[in-house]
Amino acid sequence: MKRLLSLLFILLLLAGCAPKPSSQTIFCMDTVMGLTVWGRNADDALSRLCGTLNSLDRTWSVTDEDSFLSRFNRGQAQPDEQQAALLARAMELSERTGGAFCPRLQALSRCWGFYNGEYRLPAQEEIAQALTQEQWDLGGFLKGYAGSLCTQVLSEAGVERALLELGGNVQTYGEKPGGEPWRIGIQNPAGGDPLGILSVYGSTAVVTSGDYQRYFEVEGRRYHHILDPRTGYPASSGLSSVTVICSDGAAADALSTALFVLGLEDGTRLWRKEQDFEAVFVCSDGKLYATPGAKLSGCAFEVISP
Ligand code: AMP
Ligand code: MG
Repeated sequence: MKRLLSLLFILLLLAGCAPKPSSQTIFCMDTVMGLTVWGRNADDALSRLCGTLNSLDRTWSVTDEDSFLSRFNRGQAQPDEQQAALLARAMELSERTGGAFCPRLQALSRCWGFYNGEYRLPAQEEIAQALTQEQWDLGGFLKGYAGSLCTQVLSEAGVERALLELGGNVQTYGEKPGGEPWRIGIQNPAGGDPLGILSVYGSTAVVTSGDYQRYFEVEGRRYHHILDPRTGYPASSGLSSVTVICSDGAAADALSTALFVLGLEDGTRLWRKEQDFEAVFVCSDGKLYATPGAKLSGCAFEVISP
């Protein structure tokens, strides 16, 4: 009996030590974010994460006329060192993608109504005029950058692991117990169950850009929020979505947007150059293509040759 009681005591103790996650949902950067953190300092980490995300949102908001970005675009503010570094990073990623990722499309997105939801088909002259205005909008990579910044916060807070769902972006942090991978679903653009499952390890960004994330329809035709800087129209490259897997969140986010604009063929060409990320392309005809290092399961797909 004594032995049974002490075993029960040990089991209770272990159950008490079992790392239970703490979670929080916030609305930030115009999307719902779900933050889940495991470890002793989880609650403290969560409040620090919220602070970091809200502060980024306030600084880079395109809708708040008093944000740093709005004032900077009006020539009324100068960036500090950190802000200048982020703007420079955006330009570097723009160059890497041959301009497909373009962080200065604010006037264009605005004239399509993508910021306030008052969607409209702009006239050709309006589009041409908007393309000449180089107003910054970091929306194409801010959530990815935020994910990477959050991993620093988590490391400083000393937590074990975390799963951050930042709109269409997922950022993992730390290892799952037992060497298990994090398993992340690739959303079916048509809705319903995920198309397939991606397995990733450690701290990784998994970022998806898709034509189903924000769009409106006119006469049965879909106009979505990822704009082709060459035409000023929603990118029409034969893709429904692109998911990029990369240790660097900002790069993953900029690349997913760029690959969506470029399409399968040109996107694959971009991947072949440096092969420092993995990608899954979901074509409009439903076919899937994945780079060889993407650990994709649960669906049929073609492996892209290096
Ligand atoms: P994402 O969802 O990451 O693919 O980024 C889409 C968001 O980035 C849009 O809501 C716009 O704010 C902005 N954007 C649209 N087209 C582009 C583009 N070609 N390059 C960079 N940012 C873009
Ligand atoms: Mg992006």
